[in-house]
Amino acid sequence: LTSRTIILGAGIAGVAAAHILATKYEDVDVTLVDGRLPLSFTTSCSGENFRSFWPHKSMEGLVTRSLDLMNQIREPLREPFHLEYSGYRFVSLREEPLSPDTTAQLTRLTEPDSIHEQYPYLSPVVRQVVQLEQAGSLDVHGLGQQLLKEALEKGVRLMQAHVAKVERTKEGFSCHLQSGEELSCQRLVLASGPFIGQHCKQLGLTLPVENFLQQKVVLPDPLGIIPRDMPFTILADPQHLDWTVDEKQLLVNDPTCSWLLQEFPAGLHIKPESRNQIKLGWAFNRRTSVPNWDPPSDPEFASIVLRGASRFIPGLAQYLRELPTPVFSYSGYYNRTRENWPVVGPVGPDGLFVIGGLSGFGTMSACGVGELCADWIHGTPNPSYARHFHPDRYNFEDIAAEIARLDSDGQL
Ligand SMILES: Cc1cc2nc3c(=O)[nH]c(=O)nc-3n(C[C@H](O)[C@H](O)[C@H](O)COP(=O)(O)OP(=O)(O)OC[C@H]3O[C@@H](n4cnc5c(N)ncnc54)[C@H](O)[C@@H]3O)c2cc1C
Repeated sequence: LTSRTIILGAGIAGVAAAHILATKYEDVDVTLVDGRLPLSFTTSCSGENFRSFWPHKSMEGLVTRSLDLMNQIREPLREPFHLEYSGYRFVSLREEPLSPDTTAQLTRLTEPDSIHEQYPYLSPVVRQVVQLEQAGSLDVHGLGQQLLKEALEKGVRLMQAHVAKVERTKEGFSCHLQSGEELSCQRLVLASGPFIGQHCKQLGLTLPVENFLQQKVVLPDPLGIIPRDMPFTILADPQHLDWTVDEKQLLVNDPTCSWLLQEFPAGLHIKPESRNQIKLGWAFNRRTSVPNWDPPSDPEFASIVLRGASRFIPGLAQYLRELPTPVFSYSGYYNRTRENWPVVGPVGPDGLFVIGGLSGFGTMSACGVGELCADWIHGTPNPSYARHFHPDRYNFEDIAAEIARLDSDGQL
């Protein structure tokens, strides 16, 4: 079996790359290979949020471009996938202004009476509420299905097969399938999500990415604590969880639980879901993992995130007394670089490309990174952020200096 281009991985990144190759470049001798159903691994865990606000202009440029592409794809559709600019709302218990250099995009409320009047469910100790308009929520499965449908209609092929090993050959690359078959190509695009590092290793390369297991939980909210029209709302402060003296004593003496006394990062987030449910997430895990096809979930996650959320929405503390049974809980890996920028472009031998490091922003940026990879493949000029996301960027002096100056990685 041969194909000019193989894209390993039909998650949102691989599917978006296939779509852009087929539509922008009419390059359709492309086979998407995935051992699972398309879009069913990390992509299915996405919280479906997007924002074009990032601490660095390169990320802002990428997500803005990605949103433009998504809107272009949506426009002609009779039944477009859901994409709504419902905003993000950052809440802080601190006085110092959040993100001072981005005031143009934000509206800020700091007057305590106004905060209480507009958002009575927030704690009276909240000191500022910052609303970001260029943000919202997106039907990721709908987007992915549309990209896949259009790519297949153009002639891209989809193959369900597990790749046991990738290898370099004289003509290009070879994917050894679990079935024993071999698939060869001149160009290989690695878009294998959390497994991208392993695939690079098989080709003798090291990609600067690591995997971090993160979780989300959907809970019933029978008391209606979270208003149905609340946008995606984020606590912008780090915190220590609120434990009683007795609880603290127990935790201190238990080495398996004492980490619960450490500082937790900013970024806990909540949004209402349908039927009086709420979705909560908090990417607090900072320990790397070797990826697993069945990412484990921590059964304590719901109580940890509820405890953290009670800090700024005190009504949620009522659920700590009797934890509602989660509607569902899921986990997946943030495959990320140290500065939390993606890795997209050529790497190693001629004909090899990667789309990785998509961390917690892969669904909002998929069209952007897919296009960037397709641009690299066809050698056309790239947007200004192309060098920032190049796999060799740490060797570019100017970019390395920009990375060193970053004071936030923007992770949520
Ligand atoms: C809990 C959580 C919440 C998130 N929330 C958001 C959010 O709100 N907004 C946002 O933009 N992003 C979010 N993300 C991030 C986003 O989901 C990911 O960045 C994105 O889905 C990554 O897509 P991908 O295509 O790179 O990887 P994947 O979706 O993992 O796709 C990789 C594919 O490669 C295939 N594959 C791998 N190895 C092999 C092999 N050997 N053989 C065959 N196939 C193989 C896999 O089966 C898989 O389908 C979230 C992530 C998590 C974990």
